[in-house]
Amino acid sequence: MSAERFSRVRAAMAEQGTDVLLLSVGPDLPWLTGYEAMPLERLTMLVVPVDGDATLLVPRLEAPRVVEKPDLFTVHPWDETDDPIAIVAALVGAAGSLAIGDKTWARFLVDLQAQLPATSWRKASDVTGPIRAVKDADEIAALRAASHAADRVAAQLQAGEIPLVGRTEAEVSTDLGNRLIAEGHHRVNFAIVAAGENAASPHHEPGSRVIRSGEVVLCDFGGTMAAPDGTGYCSDITRCVSIGEPSAEVAEAYAVLHEAQQAAVAAATVGTACEEVDAVARRIITDAGFGPRFMHRTGHGIGVEEHEDPYVVAGNGTPLVPGHAFSVEPGIYTAGSWGMRLEDIVVAADAGPDPLNLSDHRLVVVDG
Ligand code: ZN
Ligand code: ZN
Ligand code: ZN
Repeated sequence: MSAERFSRVRAAMAEQGTDVLLLSVGPDLPWLTGYEAMPLERLTMLVVPVDGDATLLVPRLEAPRVVEKPDLFTVHPWDETDDPIAIVAALVGAAGSLAIGDKTWARFLVDLQAQLPATSWRKASDVTGPIRAVKDADEIAALRAASHAADRVAAQLQAGEIPLVGRTEAEVSTDLGNRLIAEGHHRVNFAIVAAGENAASPHHEPGSRVIRSGEVVLCDFGGTMAAPDGTGYCSDITRCVSIGEPSAEVAEAYAVLHEAQQAAVAAATVGTACEEVDAVARRIITDAGFGPRFMHRTGHGIGVEEHEDPYVVAGNGTPLVPGHAFSVEPGIYTAGSWGMRLEDIVVAADAGPDPLNLSDHRLVVVDG
């Protein structure tokens, strides 16, 4: 699989006129090599010429963690007294057009630009983004496994197995994260727990707020689950529970949200533009009078990174193709009172939209 990714990357480089691809920290490197660089002040850099052998430059002390794949890349450890920027510059040589990983530290890019003044630069995502956005069968299987693990935690929440009343949002957030790990994730990326009025802030930071009976609690959590090839794929799910029966206002709004989310999932067929999936959810919410309270895009792509192409947003006319994996997560937020969001990961497929999250979509009532 890695060999195929290398050849697809080189084909994209050739098409775009990119001579050398440089990857450091960030998701492109593990996606391509199975090796994830620690976010260190010491430089790790994969140098991929469009037609030549790839070299993975790593600090000597990191080398034992790298599994060399000689048919794909050789490992070049650098010592504490070496100048790794100069080594990269030498490997780049006279190449005129470089693409560099989007999340590379600026300090390394600035130093590279000083040593390679005649070079033009572009973002590596120009090369890798469209390739990464379309998942192969192994990647879809890995995303499905991660989503099902997240579903199991959501089911625990909905079954009332996670105590809520009297605990702080932060405590419940830690609990959700521990359960993601127990269900097979190797890393927790986030676990938003927002109670009552706090749920009106879509990216609320769980804090010392104590959860009370009668509230709707929004839980949006996800992590990364290791895949057999050394990479890892992300989960991301949002479910809301009501501690006790919800008010009529909340129940009515949730019915609109549920309808909008399911309609947008159903609309995510191959050939449909990403912006149309967004529009389907937005029309239903707007027609119910909640339009201004749905202030974010409907979704984002997901893979080795929790947010990546394709984005389900107005203005993105990209048509869905088989293998596009993305979230569908409309929300309705009433400042000062309550908020709600319903999120699944969906894969576009020839047979129709393939939702990876299957846990209950209703506003489940729990005792607390
Ligand atoms: Zn989410
Ligand atoms: Zn999401
Ligand atoms: Zn449903």
